Amino acid sequence: MNSELYGKLVFEISREGRRGCSVPVPSDAAGAVEKSIPASLLRTGIPELPMVDEPSAVRHYTNMSTNNFGVDTGFYPLGSCTMKYNPKINEALASSPEVAALHPFQPAGTAQGALEAYYMLQSFLSEIGGMAEFSLNPYAGAHGELTGLMVIRAYHADRGDFGRIKVIVPDSAHGTNPASAAVAGLQIIETRSMPDGTVDIDDLCSKLDDTVAAVMLTNPNTTGMFERRIPEIARAVHAAGALLYYDGANLNPMLGVARPGDMGFDVMHINLHKTFSTPHGGGGPGAGPVGVRAGLEKYLPNPRVVKQPDGSFAVVTHSDDALGRISFWLGNFTVLRRALAYILTLGAEGMMHVGPYATLAANYVMNSLNDLYLQPIPGPCKHEFVFDGLRDKSTGITTLNVAKRLLDMGFHAPTIYFPLLFHEALMVEPTETESRETLDAFIDAMRRIAAEAQSQPEILQQAPLCTPMAHPDETEAATHPKLKWKDLT
Ligand SMILES: *Cc1c(COP(=O)(O)O)cnc(C)c1O
Repeated sequence: MNSELYGKLVFEISREGRRGCSVPVPSDAAGAVEKSIPASLLRTGIPELPMVDEPSAVRHYTNMSTNNFGVDTGFYPLGSCTMKYNPKINEALASSPEVAALHPFQPAGTAQGALEAYYMLQSFLSEIGGMAEFSLNPYAGAHGELTGLMVIRAYHADRGDFGRIKVIVPDSAHGTNPASAAVAGLQIIETRSMPDGTVDIDDLCSKLDDTVAAVMLTNPNTTGMFERRIPEIARAVHAAGALLYYDGANLNPMLGVARPGDMGFDVMHINLHKTFSTPHGGGGPGAGPVGVRAGLEKYLPNPRVVKQPDGSFAVVTHSDDALGRISFWLGNFTVLRRALAYILTLGAEGMMHVGPYATLAANYVMNSLNDLYLQPIPGPCKHEFVFDGLRDKSTGITTLNVAKRLLDMGFHAPTIYFPLLFHEALMVEPTETESRETLDAFIDAMRRIAAEAQSQPEILQQAPLCTPMAHPDETEAATHPKLKWKDLT
């Protein structure tokens, strides 16, 4: 921010009569148009627009735009949400006219390249997930979960097994899991985690019966722990007639290491906007493709892209057993294009490094901080880990204080107060794309904060001290957002 001046609302820098451009007097033709508009729709007074000169307007908006924190401006270790760097070549490819100017309904014969790219991504994801087929239609992880659960319902209904109305979800699961199950019309049964953060198999198995449609698991789970006993769980779930769903929102630790299909999962989704480095945040477009094992392909939604015997590509819009349409057309095509670019850039060899590097980075950060921060689950972790606040609880400094102080130091805060298993949860995911120097700078900031908790706790209680906005009332902001400038006065 350059100065106080441009931190103000644009209406506050407005001065009566000032302007940055002059609007021409309407021509006769425009006057004629105006006459054709009913009087009741015509504006009677001058619009209440801010009056500013052009440089002030440009500076105002340019300075506002720099208040955004993004992965292109700093380290963003948001556990579970995976904010990793989005390579610029992906952006260039996604915004090229060949991609951006395509019309969804143009004849397949004129879009063979795009359909081939789409088909390639379907095939790559099937290979990566160890699944028979993928649908790229869903727009987000939660949307993928819903689609996957609808596939599971269709499978049970097809067998005439209508009594399966429950989904078992671990207590550490991402909130979207129970939410998607509820939207799919299923009841949610929670299963416990053990002290090491993994699923309690005895508790899980005691809940399996012929009313269970599916068990949803995340692996590595939301505490960053690898569920070692999946094959055993898969056998029990299948023996009970249910299907095993894999939440692959964060598939990066698995890349180059293991495939959900090989472990016994039947249905899965992948968040391309976490795993394959496409942008996300602020509710922007994402993609949550859904994969299924052999035998379940026919239930996947349409449209999908198929390769024909002559080598050309076609869009299938209808098949008898398929779910109805779950997205407008083929999905978020430019997001899919970015993910394909990422996969092709890495190649099979690069892909083998993703999981190991994500795991190495997380363990490096965790082990560099666990003398000062409380690590409730013994390591090693996978791509992310959870601390339960500072070790020394006597200072009264909370996870929220730590998170706010990190903003002063130029870092985005980690995920806080999630998962709900610990009171002071602080969840860090460095991702595989950060340099050693960046990780060290973050470790240094976290250590300085721990030292401040001892020497100057009042600074931490007041933080952030250097951000454009300091202490919004978060509850008020969420429940009564002020979206019009007039409300602010
Ligand atoms: C992010 C996430 C989801 C939900 O993905 P959205 O794209 O935000 O809907 C589901 N499960 C896990 C484990 C996640 O991290």
